[in-house]
Amino acid sequence: MPGPLAPDPDSAALARDPEALAARLREASHEAAARPDAIRVVHAPGRVNLIGEHTDYNLGFVLPVAIDLGISVAIVPNDEGEVRLTLVETGETATFPIDDPGPKRNHWSDYVAGIAWAMGEAGLGPRGFDGVLASDLPQGAGLSSSAAISVVSAWALAGGDAPPVEPMGLVHVVRRSENGYIGLNNGIMDQFASIFGRAGHALLLDCRTEHHHDIPLADPDVALVACHSGSPRKLESSAYNERRAQCDAAVAAIATTDPWVTSLRDVTPEMLAEARPRLDPVVAARAEHIVFENLRVVDAVAALESGDLPALGRLFAESQASMRDLFGISSPELDALVDIATRIPGVIGARLTGAGFGGCTINLVHRDAVPALREAVLRDYPARTDLTPRVFEVQASDGARRLA
Ligand code: ADP
Ligand code: MG
Repeated sequence: MPGPLAPDPDSAALARDPEALAARLREASHEAAARPDAIRVVHAPGRVNLIGEHTDYNLGFVLPVAIDLGISVAIVPNDEGEVRLTLVETGETATFPIDDPGPKRNHWSDYVAGIAWAMGEAGLGPRGFDGVLASDLPQGAGLSSSAAISVVSAWALAGGDAPPVEPMGLVHVVRRSENGYIGLNNGIMDQFASIFGRAGHALLLDCRTEHHHDIPLADPDVALVACHSGSPRKLESSAYNERRAQCDAAVAAIATTDPWVTSLRDVTPEMLAEARPRLDPVVAARAEHIVFENLRVVDAVAALESGDLPALGRLFAESQASMRDLFGISSPELDALVDIATRIPGVIGARLTGAGFGGCTINLVHRDAVPALREAVLRDYPARTDLTPRVFEVQASDGARRLA
């Protein structure tokens, strides 16, 4: 007889095991037990961003990579127009009617309800489902579990297949959920990566035109390693919104002499130098980060395409210094992780990834140096911070998809 699931601390393995996840759904749902053939399993990945931080909402360039850590949901559509979704890890179930998800509750289910609301607004006809969710993607770590849960929810609400909208349209449905329901004024990078991911590739996105281009990660000798600082990404929306406001202030000041400037995307280093005397010093520093970070993304793509690993390493170092000194989004913990990593021979580059203030670094590492990096981080980081790090070697992976 199906019933509530007991919490399963080892649920992460189920994110990669669609058969086992479907079995949990049959344990939890009468609907699924009665109609096992109607079960679908969908998955959406997290991401790392190689370079281009806080450039997305400044309509610049980003270079994310969807990774082989993510969130999977097994579902069976129900006819009650209700979402009944259980987290395998905790056994907790969230229930709400599709046509009236109600207000935000400051709860994980907000990400599901927000997508139901945004899909409804977009005329995408979200459907109720019984589901179970398993994740091997750390939450609040800067690997974009929020985008993964949003995107996988869209697939679940579409009956376990791609939602009936072109993929860039889905990017905007997720943004609508974040802006209009969750109350976050985010850019589009995270859900873009979770939707458009491609195995073996990074994704160059121009956040103004929304043109994008897959960049092969062709060198089999280069591994991607995410190091989790163990300090949650304290993305107090205040700090994030403050950065956004400072970028807007820079645009407003520069537009007094260059009225066609509508975002920092339009600002060259020369224009910034000219405007600097009129800018508040902190605002100028924020703008300097964005203006040069955009150039670094373009340079990083060129370096990836020509296999120039030393150039990539320099760009990572410049980006990290800029995030620390100009944009103010690093932390002592992230700085320590970068410092430990860059001392290891074979580490090509290390920088924080994602919004900052905590979370993860991304490291480009010669494959034979991965064990040395892992050992150094696990040994030296706790001594320096009193925190426990986690080290994930990740693979560039496909975006949201059906697993079964
Ligand atoms: P990040 O996107 O960097 O992981 P966020 O703070 O943006 O961090 O999003 C984390 C939030 O997403 C969690 O607090 C939770 O509400 C939701 N979430 C992510 N993964 C899960 C999961 N496996 N189960 C339930 N909620 C999740
Ligand atoms: Mg997030």
